[in-house]
Amino acid sequence: MTSLSDLPLRDSLRGREPYGAPQLNVPVALNVNENTHELPFDVIKDIVKRVGDAAHNINRYPDREFESLRSALAKYLGHELNANQLWAANGSNEVLQQIFQAFGGPGRLALGFGPTYSMYSLIALGADTNYINAPRGERYELTPDLIRSAIAEHKPNIVMLCSPNNPTGTPLSLDCIEAAYEATEGIVVVDEAYAEFANESLSALSLLPGRPRLMVSRTMSKAFAFAGARVGYLAADPAVVDALRLVRLPYHLSAFTQAAAEAALDHADALLATVADIRRQRDRLVTELRTLGFDPYRSDSNFVLFGGVSDPERTFTELLSRGVLVRNVGIPNTLRVTAGTEAETTAFLEALAELEAN
Ligand SMILES: *Cc1c(COP(=O)(O)O)cnc(C)c1O
Repeated sequence: MTSLSDLPLRDSLRGREPYGAPQLNVPVALNVNENTHELPFDVIKDIVKRVGDAAHNINRYPDREFESLRSALAKYLGHELNANQLWAANGSNEVLQQIFQAFGGPGRLALGFGPTYSMYSLIALGADTNYINAPRGERYELTPDLIRSAIAEHKPNIVMLCSPNNPTGTPLSLDCIEAAYEATEGIVVVDEAYAEFANESLSALSLLPGRPRLMVSRTMSKAFAFAGARVGYLAADPAVVDALRLVRLPYHLSAFTQAAAEAALDHADALLATVADIRRQRDRLVTELRTLGFDPYRSDSNFVLFGGVSDPERTFTELLSRGVLVRNVGIPNTLRVTAGTEAETTAFLEALAELEAN
């Protein structure tokens, strides 16, 4: 039998592990920061109708420029953005990959601040770009000084700022983003996958005017409850969009994807109606985890990283045996849990309290 190591794989990929958050069928899945609320039925009906309509023309290639979706995304974001400043792909991971294909490459360096989203280093690897994580400060917070000195030391071509940060939940101030932009001649990517859960005034979208090397990536996978559809997007200078056109595959967004995303955006208010409850469950997690004797980190997102877990792998397994799936992100003595519905959050807290009592 042939194994991976027998193949003439690129040297840089040898011995590497693929992304692999477990996909298990459990009653309470709180491990990949999805919006766990069901979609309203009238939204589902509209999505199905619009995808059905798209099937009539499915013998033809889709609109390569997805003009109508880009207009809808610009309208959703506000900040006086136009469709020519918007781009989208199959998940923001694909947007990030296109950024690395256009602005990274052999001999170039991307800098993040770890612990941060594990896909940055994997995407860099696939695009033959070097990647370094500079350390964060106390309780994973970042400061303008810390960012400036890391940029001065490493001289990256790409700076990755995750706001709020995954897996720690840490918010990022606009000062930090401005400091990064001024300190580098490279590009600055602000990954706002969880922006809808955060304080809106923190969005880097407000910094876009006059900063052509700044890019803000967003996704419909989290707050929008649309992870299965695979739609991520980017706001930036129109010249950045031109750069991404050089590397994207022709017709990369299927007509079904475009139709489904446009339908969902028409129902943005209904889809985002659960965000307030998810924030409440997140804040409840922080309070109750503290009461249980754990050390939750400050979170502006829809998940909470908590310390004080003496044996994360054991706690993970014990929770799983009680039907609750959380995430061990590999930070010693911590686990990460998504804020679910009120019932799911209760199930997690009760399961945890139960095994603490044993
Ligand atoms: C979930 C997540 C994404 C979104 O990925 P998609 O490809 O859009 O589903 C991007 N960045 C971070 C930090 C995430 O946690």
